Amino acid sequence: MIELPAHSIAPIGIIHSCYPEKFGIPRQPGLVRSSTGRLELLPPCNREEMVRGLDAFSHIWIHFLFHEVVAEGWRPTVRPPWLGGQKRVGVFASRSPHRPNFMGLSVVRLTGISKEGKGLFLEIAELDLLDKTPVLDIKPYVPYSDSVTGASAGFIPPPESVERHILFSEGAADFCATYELRTGRRLKALIAETLGQDPRPASQRRQTREYGMLLWELNVRWQARGESFQVLSISEE
Ligand code: SAH
Repeated sequence: MIELPAHSIAPIGIIHSCYPEKFGIPRQPGLVRSSTGRLELLPPCNREEMVRGLDAFSHIWIHFLFHEVVAEGWRPTVRPPWLGGQKRVGVFASRSPHRPNFMGLSVVRLTGISKEGKGLFLEIAELDLLDKTPVLDIKPYVPYSDSVTGASAGFIPPPESVERHILFSEGAADFCATYELRTGRRLKALIAETLGQDPRPASQRRQTREYGMLLWELNVRWQARGESFQVLSISEE
């Protein structure tokens, strides 16, 4: 073991996300524009001076812990979904959560900074983060250096461009309209964009069956039929 200077890592914040479970979360940030959440800064980091100047940036990097998979452990090689779950690549050639230090990295849109009593929150969007994710660090996204034109992405293809028809039952559409008025959250777009990413495991892509997916505190029931998805019903959990 290499000796490191004595240092322990503690979370500086916690994520409140529209995704309370792993099923449905997009594979990378930026894919579902209507996904939203908040990063709550925890003491001693809930001080306004610690985010002074951050509002000048449209995007931030979030370093986080893949806390939900720690108990499952990690393997030296993984089968990424990009390769249809068939081929193995090295864990360090993947974005898999199952990695030795379980550290994640996402660039998300910063839409505001709010203060509520002693609480300090970064309002974020376009995320791929599970609710209650512990946050380890935050940095501003610096386009001139962080965005590399002409970079090659190996075997990780850009997201699927299959046009999916997302149909809403009358009840589901009515539910969305009422919910949006009450909460200001763009639920219908969130559902359509999340399903547009096809959250089904690769092995189930040919089946017609019903699924339940949690978004915020809601249970969204939907059915896959070929290339189109039908949202059947939405209910409070
Ligand atoms: N952009 C990050 C994450 C990529 S993996 C990175 O490259 O490091 C994305 C998947 O991580 C999501 O589909 C979701 O299922 C999973 N995920 C997100 N937050 C998690 C958490 N706190 N614990 C475990 N898995 C999580």
